[in-house]
Amino acid sequence: MIDLRSDTVTKPTEAMRKAMYDAEVGDDVYGEDYTVRKLEEIAAEMLGKEDALFVTSGTQGNQIAVLTHCQPGNEILLEADSHIFYYEGAAISAFAGVQPRTISGNRGQMSAKDVAASIRVDDIHMPETSLICLENTHNRAGGAVVPIENMKDIYSVAQNHHIPLHLDGARLFNASVASNTKLSEYGAQTDTIQVCLSKGLGAPIGSVIAGSAPFIKDARKWRKRLGGGLRQVGVIAAPGIVALTQMVDRLEEDHKRAKRLAEGLREIPNITVENEVDTNIIVVNISKTNISVDDFLHRLKEQEVLAVPFGSETVRFTTNYHITDENIEQVLQKLNACLK
Ligand SMILES: *Cc1c(COP(=O)(O)O)cnc(C)c1O
Repeated sequence: MIDLRSDTVTKPTEAMRKAMYDAEVGDDVYGEDYTVRKLEEIAAEMLGKEDALFVTSGTQGNQIAVLTHCQPGNEILLEADSHIFYYEGAAISAFAGVQPRTISGNRGQMSAKDVAASIRVDDIHMPETSLICLENTHNRAGGAVVPIENMKDIYSVAQNHHIPLHLDGARLFNASVASNTKLSEYGAQTDTIQVCLSKGLGAPIGSVIAGSAPFIKDARKWRKRLGGGLRQVGVIAAPGIVALTQMVDRLEEDHKRAKRLAEGLREIPNITVENEVDTNIIVVNISKTNISVDDFLHRLKEQEVLAVPFGSETVRFTTNYHITDENIEQVLQKLNACLK
């Protein structure tokens, strides 16, 4: 199978397996797991933050950030297609008791003007705006890189209003590599960040959230409340260290392969590539083929290619470190074959 469903379908590398075996561990709830502490220190340093916290998933990291920044009855501002709003089961309402206020963006970018206009004034009728969330790269915008200038503009609005800013950076490494921007430069434009180790970087599990030392202290307590305080968890933090230190630069290859796949797809009749391919995600509209999304994916599967539905007329392909140049050419041939 050529599995282009996601960059989460990767298996741990040999170096990761070895790191797991060799990991020095202790009870992390007592702060005694050396490997977890090392992962947190490396992540904090890379992201230019005081401290960091290892969490089980991107969703848990984002939710801990919302819980730490907000009180029930607050309102948070976020992009209308953002993961926190779209794909986290309304957890912000279910757990933190906050109300979302969405702003439509362009390729994942909200305008700083729209953000400023959506901040509530002090009025007995209104909720308080307690958090602004950004996402980079933007998942539903097809892995679009949100430019650092846009982040700067929004951060300055946030700071002027004394509202914290959280960055959902599940794929911030992709943004960093694609735009040649250091992770710490992004880190400087936000108060807190969540990054996934288990997406393009190939670790089997985990995310890290980063921010000020007081933020991480509170976040650690929220993680414990949610049942996310783990014990000899260095065995799963160890592949995260490999992810951060060995798997970032190679994302460039995933981006090149995604661009090559998009280029080939554009030559196939009745198929439209909907996004500008900045990173590793390709969104393809198949409505003109007169084949349903289900049928299209089924035919692809018969050719041993996997992709995912992304709407009623669109499917999504994502490159990852298992995918080779040869695989991309095979996918293009097979697509031609299954559309005949
Ligand atoms: C995948 C993803 C998450 C959530 O990560 P999980 O580890 O799957 O919970 C959050 N934000 C974005 C933008 C994502 O793509």
